[in-house]
Amino acid sequence: MDFLRPQTWSDALAAKADDVDVVPIQGGTDVMVEMNFDLHRPGGLLDLNPISELTEWQQLPDGTLRVGAGVPYVRIIAELGDRLPGISQASRTVGSPQIRNRGTVGGNLGGASPAGDLHAPLLAAGAIVEVESAARGVRMIPATEFYLGVKRNCCEPDELIRAFHVVPAAGPQYFSKIGTRNAMVIAVCSFSIALFPQEGRVGTGLGSAAPTPRRAYDAENYLAAELDWDGALDPRVSEEFGRLVSAAASPIDDVRGTADYRKHALSVMARRTLGWAWRDLTAARKVA
Ligand SMILES: Cc1cc2nc3c(=O)[nH]c(=O)nc-3n(C[C@H](O)[C@H](O)[C@H](O)COP(=O)(O)OP(=O)(O)OC[C@H]3O[C@@H](n4cnc5c(N)ncnc54)[C@H](O)[C@@H]3O)c2cc1C
Repeated sequence: MDFLRPQTWSDALAAKADDVDVVPIQGGTDVMVEMNFDLHRPGGLLDLNPISELTEWQQLPDGTLRVGAGVPYVRIIAELGDRLPGISQASRTVGSPQIRNRGTVGGNLGGASPAGDLHAPLLAAGAIVEVESAARGVRMIPATEFYLGVKRNCCEPDELIRAFHVVPAAGPQYFSKIGTRNAMVIAVCSFSIALFPQEGRVGTGLGSAAPTPRRAYDAENYLAAELDWDGALDPRVSEEFGRLVSAAASPIDDVRGTADYRKHALSVMARRTLGWAWRDLTAARKVA
């Protein structure tokens, strides 16, 4: 097996263009498991770890955060928790400390598992994925367009994921995940909410609830229209929001849970996270 270790991003793009079958490896927490269990034995690995720029994040002049594909979860939690609360909460639920030390959002996006924990908060926050190829340069892909099917994203064979872009939270954000225990668990289903009070807008993301992670558009539009942004949260609005989130899902029965259970759990998580977000919003109004 070839083991390629490019030292620069342009060399990595050239290596991928040269042989589109080489498998990129960042933290290796998915790739190595697949190899160890003989599920996938690639002809070559493209180790992205020497490329230091992938492990950096910065704030762009317009305020957007650009987070390198190789920034591990521990650093997202420690360094970006205040600005990306939904993404950080999801990061805290990934695997174990060892997995969070090595694992990255880039790897979660690369794997595109419907059960990946980062997809829901990326969708809710309106993230954009930066991918690049040697031949065609950079493509900026909204998270809503990134996922194509089970474990399939829209990267072309010669493209690599470079970063994700997201605006720092303009309001409360929450992530919730159901599993059979509190840690080291693949989500039965997950849900993320982001409120944008200044714009009167709501973002959502559903995980393990359909062949791809997805937003609940009807629920977002309903909530944005019905919320009294300066007042109290009407329990009937919260109830209907939960119903619409559940209706947006098309889950399956599998070993982790039934479709019916997932739909029910999504409505509960939607109501619950909205309640938490509203509590934060109310507290912030009192301070202001
Ligand atoms: C014990 C254990 C527990 C886990 N728990 C969770 C969990 O709770 N929640 C969860 O979501 N996941 C979990 N995972 C899965 C895994 O840790 C995550 O998906 C993690 O985000 C993968 O990141 P990585 O950097 O290790 O990716 P890698 O394993 O290096 O790569 C993953 C995939 O992305 C591709 N890839 C990596 N970098 C790039 C790039 N720059 N461009 C294009 N493609 C790229 C790889 O080719 C591969 O297909 C767990 C894994 C293990 C082993």
